[in-house]
Amino acid sequence: MVRRWDEGRFYPSRPLGQAPFPFPCDYGLNRLVGGMSGHPALFLDRDGNLIRDHHHTCREDQIELIPGVRPALVACLAAGYRLFILTNQSGINRGIFTWEQYLACNRRMLELLDLPAPGILEIKAAPERPDEPSLYRKPSPLFILEKIAEHGLDPARCWMTGDRVTDWEAGANAGVRSCAMRSGAASPAELAAAVGRGFAVHDDFPAFVRAELKLTF
Ligand SMILES: [Mg+2]
Repeated sequence: MVRRWDEGRFYPSRPLGQAPFPFPCDYGLNRLVGGMSGHPALFLDRDGNLIRDHHHTCREDQIELIPGVRPALVACLAAGYRLFILTNQSGINRGIFTWEQYLACNRRMLELLDLPAPGILEIKAAPERPDEPSLYRKPSPLFILEKIAEHGLDPARCWMTGDRVTDWEAGANAGVRSCAMRSGAASPAELAAAVGRGFAVHDDFPAFVRAELKLTF
């Protein structure tokens, strides 16, 4: 009988080529055995990362791409990165705006981005306030872990990028790399703390793509 390296751990064995069940404790072992072959991916915060943050952005006329984001994302797609957006939208449960307004903003953003296929594969929003229980509100790693398993992603080639502490922590909690952006809401002290914790810090998403992913556009 062929035994797989992960057999007998916290989950049953599975067909070769399928991602391990995403317990964070497994990632260290993956690295020890040489890393898993899998797809690279980017997990993207929305406000302050891809579009300007207007603090509870909720009107279509507020949607403005951060300069350079579109060509940067096109370069990422051409390089094989799978793209996902995860966004905390507590304005919904605070009663500041509705799901319909939020979705209209997404449609406007996607219209402005006008990305080639496959574009953004999924957009996940957490509508809960910080004081409410939530499965997906960042810094929860759940969405990232689900996509790693579902798409057979290589955690070593995945990044979470965003402009808030909760973004960087979501990436760290999921066992992927995180990059902090200066293009949004983070304070100088928060950005300094991000550097201290070993996170990459860049002016904006295009600068991240050039510096960390080594892509030109
Ligand atoms: Mg943000």
